[in-house]
Amino acid sequence: MWVRRLFQPSTLHWAWRTTALNHPLGRHQGGLRWTHSGGRSYRAVIFDTGGVLVPSPGTVAVGQASSATAQQSGKLTESMAELAWDFATKEGFRVFKEMPATKTLSRSYHAWAGPRSPRTPKGVRGHSTVAAASPSHEAKGGLVISPEGLSPAVRKLYEQLVQFIEQKVYPLEPELQRHQASANRWSPSPLIEDLKEKAKAEGLWNLFLPLETDPEKKYGAGLTNVEYAHLCEVMGMSLYASEIFNCSVPDMGTMEILVRYGTEEQKARWLVPLLEGRIHSCFAMTDRKVASSDASNIEASIKEEDNSYVINGHKWWTSGILHPHCKLCVFMGKTDPQAPRHQQQSMLLVPMDSPGITVIRPLSVFGLEDPPGGFAEVQFKDVRVPKENIILGPGRAFEIAQGRLGRARIHNSMRLIGYSERALALMKTRVMSRTAFGKPLVEQGTILADIARSRVEIEQARLLVLKAAHLMDVAGNKAAALEMAMIKMVVPSMANQVIDRAIQAFGAAGLSSDYPLAQFFGWAQTLRLGDDQLKVAKMELKNQSRLQEPAARRV
Ligand SMILES: Cc1cc2nc3c(=O)[nH]c(=O)nc-3n(C[C@H](O)[C@H](O)[C@H](O)COP(=O)(O)OP(=O)(O)OC[C@H]3O[C@@H](n4cnc5c(N)ncnc54)[C@H](O)[C@@H]3O)c2cc1C
Repeated sequence: MWVRRLFQPSTLHWAWRTTALNHPLGRHQGGLRWTHSGGRSYRAVIFDTGGVLVPSPGTVAVGQASSATAQQSGKLTESMAELAWDFATKEGFRVFKEMPATKTLSRSYHAWAGPRSPRTPKGVRGHSTVAAASPSHEAKGGLVISPEGLSPAVRKLYEQLVQFIEQKVYPLEPELQRHQASANRWSPSPLIEDLKEKAKAEGLWNLFLPLETDPEKKYGAGLTNVEYAHLCEVMGMSLYASEIFNCSVPDMGTMEILVRYGTEEQKARWLVPLLEGRIHSCFAMTDRKVASSDASNIEASIKEEDNSYVINGHKWWTSGILHPHCKLCVFMGKTDPQAPRHQQQSMLLVPMDSPGITVIRPLSVFGLEDPPGGFAEVQFKDVRVPKENIILGPGRAFEIAQGRLGRARIHNSMRLIGYSERALALMKTRVMSRTAFGKPLVEQGTILADIARSRVEIEQARLLVLKAAHLMDVAGNKAAALEMAMIKMVVPSMANQVIDRAIQAFGAAGLSSDYPLAQFFGWAQTLRLGDDQLKVAKMELKNQSRLQEPAARRV
């Protein structure tokens, strides 16, 4: 800007160069080069910490210009250049030399080298394999908008995760994809099982359980919502990562419910094997026959008989139920149809080997079956479970769901941001390596615009999600209600657009299963269901604006 103010644009021809060069005296990101109409050319070299102005080598003498204004500004340019050069040699380079060798604030998803995490200390019984992961209470103070701002312990976890995914997961993705398309797809891949053991050994296990649910860090890493949000984004980079770190849906929800509301017996029977990754669970809420986005519609029945509950219902989209290790179903149904609307529903723990459970058929999303967990339509016919299998008590399903809902939304959103970052990274590599109509794809204007738009949209969405997570940390779910509704409106649509642009830039390959883009797109689309547009609008209308319109004048 200051260059523009000093010299009228009409007398200058200028161009940006954005290559990052390593100068012996510092690192500069690029430069502005211009030619004065007098014929002399100059360049401003932009360093990490600011800019310096230097005359270009091979300059032409001032005096060739025809107009007096041009000559005058030529002199001004030259004296500025000398001044800047003087500053650069005497002061500027001294500053670079004295600068601590800190990393610039940038996100890199490549070649991240991080130290190993500490293992669980001897004698401490925990289900997270991270020892004293985070001084989370400190992290609650400010909104951490980038991984660089995380506490050293959490940053270490972040870097370890990036390294693990880049070194151990990405290289196996083609093989994992082949397994998902093979006849063995309904059995877990041995490669995944092996990676789970490695993740556990490295302390990258059960990181999701939040500090507020598990203040003594008995079961998990005890991270704040903002801290885990950053890690969750990294797990979104690969479709296989969440399972590897025991942070997958719906098990995270089941574990959190059990930690919060489970009895000691329920915890011993179900929570422990889930935390250890020995079993999986599923969540059967959505009824086949009613609009389940309004969960108070759900008609599946839970009736008390003798010392048991008897359940009947026709569910579908029950995720994870086809996994051979799925041993537990969290079932939602009505215990009292006469009670107030939000106290009619209850949640029950149903062992999957109970008689009366029939999987009718697997379902798919755009043809994706998501094995080995999958989704299915399921019939529950006179399934009987002991009374002590109820969670929290009769009529309390909404209360239980509310406690978990906000966090699930943060996790879904950050995973989608991970998908979007990976899609954009793949897109950039692809368009730099292919040529069409005589030019590399990256030089086509529309592709550049797509890259720019994607970067801007990801950044905007991430900031909003982190704000929501931060509000949850410092003020609770209720205070974050508007942000929660907003992220559901913003993030899935953003992810759809970013992934769609990446698919477009890939051509036909983008739609194939050789790349994760088509799957990213499918999962992003599913999270658009139940968009909270109406809720956002209602809350906004209720909000008393600080900039109220003055009352209409009386006539
Ligand atoms: C991949 C996948 C996995 C799933 N996993 C599970 C699972 O594990 N367990 C489970 O129980 N369910 C699961 N579901 C089901 C999911 O929770 C439901 O599909 C969702 O709650 C919407 O319910 P519905 O399909 O009955 O849509 P409906 O309730 O029939 O709604 C139809 C559409 O109307 C919209 N709508 C609702 N209210 C309004 C309004 N006021 N204004 C405007 N539009 C509105 C909804 O957003 C929706 O898009 C899964 C679904 C998918 C696709």
